[in-house]
Amino acid sequence: MSEDDDARSPAEVVRFPQSRTAPPASVGGYKDLGIGAMARHLNMRESQMTGHWCSPCNGMWFGYAFEVECPQCGNRHG
Ligand SMILES: [Zn+2]
Repeated sequence: MSEDDDARSPAEVVRFPQSRTAPPASVGGYKDLGIGAMARHLNMRESQMTGHWCSPCNGMWFGYAFEVECPQCGNRHG
């Protein structure tokens, strides 16, 4: 499975519908927990990343849409 090839495909310029995830700017008072390991590995841009909520950290981290692990505490249950 070649993730790097997928990341450079023409699909990356396609904008997803805004209903996918609330933009970070609209979320108030959360902690920024950083970037997920997979998104870092893929060199994803912020516009390609999805926000994930982590209850133990009480904050948001950003990463690949299918990533589930908080980069701060390793929690995988949101
Ligand atoms: Zn966490």
